[in-house]
Amino acid sequence: MKVLIAEDENISRMVLAKALANHGYEVLQAHDGQEAWDIFQKEKEDIYIAILDWQMPKMDGIELCQRIKDASLSHYVYVIFLTGKKDIDSIVEGLETGADDYLPKPFDRRELLSRLKVGLRLIEFEKALREANEKLHTLAITDGLTGISNRRAIFERLRGEISRAGRENSTFCLIMLDIDHFKKVNDTYGHGAGDKVLVEIVNRIKSELRPHDDIGRYGGEEFLVGISKADSKISRVIAEKLRKCICERPFQVEDRKIDVSISLGVVDFMPSRDHDINDFLEGMIKAADIALYKAKEAGRNRAVYDSIV
Ligand code: GH3
Ligand code: MG
Ligand code: MG
Ligand code: MG
Repeated sequence: MKVLIAEDENISRMVLAKALANHGYEVLQAHDGQEAWDIFQKEKEDIYIAILDWQMPKMDGIELCQRIKDASLSHYVYVIFLTGKKDIDSIVEGLETGADDYLPKPFDRRELLSRLKVGLRLIEFEKALREANEKLHTLAITDGLTGISNRRAIFERLRGEISRAGRENSTFCLIMLDIDHFKKVNDTYGHGAGDKVLVEIVNRIKSELRPHDDIGRYGGEEFLVGISKADSKISRVIAEKLRKCICERPFQVEDRKIDVSISLGVVDFMPSRDHDINDFLEGMIKAADIALYKAKEAGRNRAVYDSIV
């Protein structure tokens, strides 16, 4: 964790830098506001605290503070003004610019260090809050059993793909796949074995896809796969690969080998810019669902194709 010091008076800056370095802070020193801003832009991912003088050449502390607070960052930067300006108006102005604390010069070393500790507590608190939010977000978009996108998240990703395909005039392929007679797997081997088969099915399918292809759990044992820039020929090849990777090898669950197959409804489409994205997605899913139904009717373990152009 680095501390940025912006101070044009050499002696003040050196005293401050030494006090902080003696207490384990990694210090970056700037002689004026512009230099401080340049350093900040380069090192912003590691700078958590900035101690700013107010009056400095090239850029004053107020502008520097505003720039730091407006910068888009993945963490909080705690800003302290350390300045000769002691009047109430200046203190108010400094804090209203977005600074977190304000200390008059000359500073007392112990007071400064304990105020830095206040800053560190806030930084830790913000970090914990951010991590908790990230975890919640991940949970909200992930299917708990298989770790892939849940229904809401796959819909969101597909909407993004439809709008991109519309902008780029490119094709997109949607596959809806459903495990054949999965109820029988549960009934014969138990729900736990069924869960393991579901996870392994997702792993096999993922290993056939490219990292940027979309996969999500649509419902119980039904999945959606989105493949960008796939025309009808490529879609058929991919669907066939997916079908084969499931039925060619039995699934090993403990000491049992379980044969499983999937049926697939495959739809190619080329959206235009004018399409309403939600309507288009609904239409695609409906078409994939109908194709999947036809695959089931025709005997399962197969893919049926359709296209919306
Ligand atoms: P079909 O070939 O027509 O699709 O037959 P099916 O048996 O797969 O279809 P059906 O809709 O009758 O049954 C789906 C089964 O999938 C029933 C349900 O218990 C099971 N299932 C859904 N989600 C899960 C899950 O998370 N874990 C397990 N183990 N089973 C699940
Ligand atoms: Mg100064
Ligand atoms: Mg099924
Ligand atoms: Mg089903």
